[in-house]
Amino acid sequence: MLTFAHQEHVSSYYFDSRNQDFQLPPLTQLERADVCVIGAGFFGLSAALELAEKGKKVVVLEGARVGFGASGRSGGQAINGFEEGIDEYIHQVGFEKARQLWEMSLEAIDIIDERIAKYGIQCDWKKGYATLALNHRRMDDLIEMEKASHKNFGYQNMQLWDKAKLKQHLGSDIYVGGLYDSHSGHLHPFNYCLGLAKACLDLGVQIFEQSPVVDLIEKSGCIEVKTDQSAVISQDVILATNAYIDTLPKSIHHGINRKIMPVESFIIATEPLSQAVADSVINNGMSVCDNNLLLDYYRLSADNRLLFGSDSSSEKNMVEVMRKNMLHVFPQLEEVKIDYGWAGPIDMTMNATPHFGRISPHIYFAQGYSGHGVALTGLAGRIIAEAILGNDERLQIFEGLKVPSVYGGKWVKNLATKIGVKYYQFLDKYR
Ligand SMILES: Cc1cc2nc3c(=O)[nH]c(=O)nc-3n(C[C@H](O)[C@H](O)[C@H](O)COP(=O)(O)OP(=O)(O)OC[C@H]3O[C@@H](n4cnc5c(N)ncnc54)[C@H](O)[C@@H]3O)c2cc1C
Repeated sequence: MLTFAHQEHVSSYYFDSRNQDFQLPPLTQLERADVCVIGAGFFGLSAALELAEKGKKVVVLEGARVGFGASGRSGGQAINGFEEGIDEYIHQVGFEKARQLWEMSLEAIDIIDERIAKYGIQCDWKKGYATLALNHRRMDDLIEMEKASHKNFGYQNMQLWDKAKLKQHLGSDIYVGGLYDSHSGHLHPFNYCLGLAKACLDLGVQIFEQSPVVDLIEKSGCIEVKTDQSAVISQDVILATNAYIDTLPKSIHHGINRKIMPVESFIIATEPLSQAVADSVINNGMSVCDNNLLLDYYRLSADNRLLFGSDSSSEKNMVEVMRKNMLHVFPQLEEVKIDYGWAGPIDMTMNATPHFGRISPHIYFAQGYSGHGVALTGLAGRIIAEAILGNDERLQIFEGLKVPSVYGGKWVKNLATKIGVKYYQFLDKYR
């Protein structure tokens, strides 16, 4: 049932290029805390850090290892805005709140800047990101996106690039153009996550690894958070379990698992490329994503490997499938070896809207970042910490966003995911 529990890290380029090692003990005796965080990915650690900075006693319980989940495996692209267009949020919550949501999405990237500077986190953080269009209809979406953020919110960090301008920086012929954003960027996600954990430990946060939470019991004035060996008695609890929510018992998730449809995403890492070959791929340090529904995303690592990811439903040999995807974009890499391939679950909601809120007055959660989790998890950590500290104004704005549920249990969800993937493939081909 608890598929992540007591697991070690998956083999990946990120794991092999980690710049610190943790072996933290499991929870074996009763602890007391102001706040107990369940899950040590970007979100759980960001919330813990914000609260520890304000003097709260925080305990983090991780069922596997720090950064075991999506945070330690992701594409590492920190992208502003939301997967769902901001126009939809204007429609749902009105212009002023949509403006605040947009500003918060920019703050999410500033938080990464701040944390890296404040805690000296070494994670190859680099600014520059482009969304690319594979056909003219998809390019029109980018033109609209630029217009909307510029017109509505005065955002000036985006530039529309036609095919010729794009070719100056990207060695691929398959795109018609793109939208470059100088505020977004990319980082080594595992090293960032380990850096957040180290900052937490230095501020006195207790982190226990290999400590899966198996039950939550609300009592008068406190919550008992039970692991498979012991328990934490806490005033407030934060669920930071993300795409693993489905594997937890109902006494923990209280039904919020219905909002998440995990989509498997895969990444391959090439061998290190010579500078000339690396420059023939990307020569300005940016990270890249196309704007299909099932998309490709890629960037160069600090040691010049191409890290190439795709969302896909294939159950065949994924490294081979991914290599073909990569060669479709960069045929010049035919002779390049693939050193690594790994996968992980992306926390999608049905309408790609993030799902932040509370299950009860003292149990908080954030999940469903829908492809923007590298940045939005830091923001979620901050606004949920604010709510716990007594100001829930910003959390309420997120709580006002509609996030539909998927009903019918896990097998219906799996089926819906499979049909959804086919449907998205169809739309990507013909729209
Ligand atoms: C292959 C891949 C590529 C991605 N690329 C990008 C990208 O380029 N840009 C982007 O913005 N987003 C990307 N994402 C998504 C992004 O990584 C996630 O949104 C983000 O990392 C979520 O962070 P989190 O802390 O909420 O969850 P996670 O990092 O998944 O952490 C959840 C943790 O909770 C633990 N846990 C779960 N249940 C329990 C329990 N009961 N008890 C104790 N511990 C528990 C798990 O072991 C896990 O460590 C990608 C994801 C994947 C998988």
